[in-house]
Amino acid sequence: MTDCLFCKIVAKEIPATVVLETERALAFRDVNPQAPTHVLVIPKEHHRDAAALAAADDGLADDVLAACHAVAVQEGVADTGYRVVFNTGPGAGQTVFHVHAHVLGGRGLTWPPG
Ligand code: AMP
Repeated sequence: MTDCLFCKIVAKEIPATVVLETERALAFRDVNPQAPTHVLVIPKEHHRDAAALAAADDGLADDVLAACHAVAVQEGVADTGYRVVFNTGPGAGQTVFHVHAHVLGGRGLTWPPG
């Protein structure tokens, strides 16, 4: 997608602090972190949201989730606990319409979030 911010990060047209790259997924630090670890994990292929990613039906969602866990291990938060969030739709706060998982950790994460 030509006009998608995260597609431009995948294409390296916009800089990002990449922490993990696999064949089909990319993970980079959120520019406005909400926790000591706040990494966005995206499929390189453009899908609008979590529903579209689930419908891709070719194991892509599995790859993205596996990348989320790999990021948590790499960041040292896998044992203490981390949160994976897909804001889905404007009503849930999605602002970038290239599906992304927020991987959050490194501080106490209460539920429900305050
Ligand atoms: P959401 O509101 O769930 O769509 O999340 C979008 C996230 O993208 C926000 O947490 C932003 O801080 C983050 N963000 C926006 N632009 C960039 C960028 N260029 N590099 C890294 N993170 C970004």
